[in-house]
Amino acid sequence: MRPFVYTRVDTAEQAVARAAPVDGTVGPTNSPVQFLAGGTNIVDYLKLSCWTADELVDINGLRDEHGSIEVTPDGIRFGSLVRLRQALDHPAVVRDYPVIAETLGRAASPQLRNMASLAGNLLQRTRCGYFRDVDYDECNKRRPGSGCAAIGGRNRMHAVLGVSDSCIASYPGDLAQALVALDTRVETLGPDGVRTFPVRDLHTGADRPEVETILAPGELITALFVPSGPHTRRSTYVKVRDRESYEFAVASAAVALDLADDGTVTDVRIAVGGLAYRPWRADAAEEFLRGRPLTADSAEQAGRVALDGAVTHGDNDHSPELGARTVARALIQAAQLQV
Ligand SMILES: Cc1cc2nc3c(=O)[nH]c(=O)nc-3n(C[C@H](O)[C@H](O)[C@H](O)COP(=O)(O)OP(=O)(O)OC[C@H]3O[C@@H](n4cnc5c(N)ncnc54)[C@H](O)[C@@H]3O)c2cc1C
Repeated sequence: MRPFVYTRVDTAEQAVARAAPVDGTVGPTNSPVQFLAGGTNIVDYLKLSCWTADELVDINGLRDEHGSIEVTPDGIRFGSLVRLRQALDHPAVVRDYPVIAETLGRAASPQLRNMASLAGNLLQRTRCGYFRDVDYDECNKRRPGSGCAAIGGRNRMHAVLGVSDSCIASYPGDLAQALVALDTRVETLGPDGVRTFPVRDLHTGADRPEVETILAPGELITALFVPSGPHTRRSTYVKVRDRESYEFAVASAAVALDLADDGTVTDVRIAVGGLAYRPWRADAAEEFLRGRPLTADSAEQAGRVALDGAVTHGDNDHSPELGARTVARALIQAAQLQV
């Protein structure tokens, strides 16, 4: 592990100023100055040396300002430093946005959920073994232009949606699927001031694996705003994994549904996880379902549409089928909720 400087700040402005752009930095994941929230991802990865930083700016002094949950008639705003456990236990989250509570309840372990922050969870980096193990030279995320060892290697847990010839790493987090499905907006403060954008735009594609988000170096996520709507209560998360706790998803689906009295889908939101390069909104599957009755058959077809265009690499040839069934199961589960 390389030595790094540890700094504490008390305000968002100080945090941004401390992590301000450095010449040659292409994105926040490669920035030599990183924010430290729960530290459960970045400190792990600094120890493994798959991620390097010269300075960690501890932002936990901002919790008074950015560590609470605000419920409004228009939606719910989470400060970026809200801990996973804090959001998971909030009565309004459990009642009105169950998909968020379910993603958080199935993420990591109780100890990690007590430490980890919502923004840190969203920004966690891939668990790809070839990225994490620096003995492998070929990793376009770590060493742009070096290749991707996973493409011809062991890739059972790798992505099939949104992949490129440069990278097939999967996005590992759970919360992002709920936030993407619910059209969450990300609020930030950066060197150029404040801005707001849809969370589905936060993560970038696999063509440039070394750049993972649209955040500018030094840009701090301050809050996540989830708009309310008729679909949020009828929402759920299905997570398929190798064991029932303390494990990342092999496939997952977050679904929010609005159904007419006769069972016709008036609105639907679907996001797929575990087998996508980045949190993946299944627009075509949503389009397919709108105006149709939600049945076992239409759910199965929507699952297949959601996995259209999947690209497999051997060990993960089963993933499109698994993903399609996961989406179908989440849709049926959401339809059966008593709301
Ligand atoms: C054994 C293990 C199992 C796990 N299982 C799961 C799982 O099943 N599901 C799951 O979802 N996760 C899982 N995780 C991941 C865990 O949830 C993440 O490590 C955690 O959520 C990261 O949050 P953090 O606050 O600790 O982030 P940190 O490690 O502090 O930060 C991560 C990154 O986010 C950046 N960052 C943090 N806050 C901000 C901000 N406000 N603005 C801008 N940038 C910011 C940091 O600069 C850093 O680059 C697991 C982790 C471990 C170690």
